[in-house]
Amino acid sequence: MGSAEALEEGARRFLLDLSGTLGVRLSKILDLYFSVEPRRARILEIVEERGKVLGVRMAVESSSRRGVWHYVSVGPYGAKCTCEANTIKGLICRHIIIALITWNMVSLIKTGQGVDIGSLGWLKKQPTED
Ligand SMILES: [Zn+2]
Repeated sequence: MGSAEALEEGARRFLLDLSGTLGVRLSKILDLYFSVEPRRARILEIVEERGKVLGVRMAVESSSRRGVWHYVSVGPYGAKCTCEANTIKGLICRHIIIALITWNMVSLIKTGQGVDIGSLGWLKKQPTED
């Protein structure tokens, strides 16, 4: 399998797993996947240890308020975002989902291994933003 195909397969599998684990429709996950563009979502830090990508920190622009940025980090032990949905309501917000998708892509590109959703115990049965 070529590396482009491996990347595509790794991304596809991750999006399906993410949809299943969060109980969020795949179409919504795909909308977020395709919304990730450099103008509106920037990687601030990639956390690496012993050849593994352990998480990312990002700034993601608000979808409703232009010029308002939310700061989000994801890793093996949890996720945090500065938006209201996460800080006040404790929900898995769209920014966290975007950061998870980005973390998986960075990991696939840098190491050839994607993020194992099953290993993210904190992600299971968490309510998500509408
Ligand atoms: Zn958020």
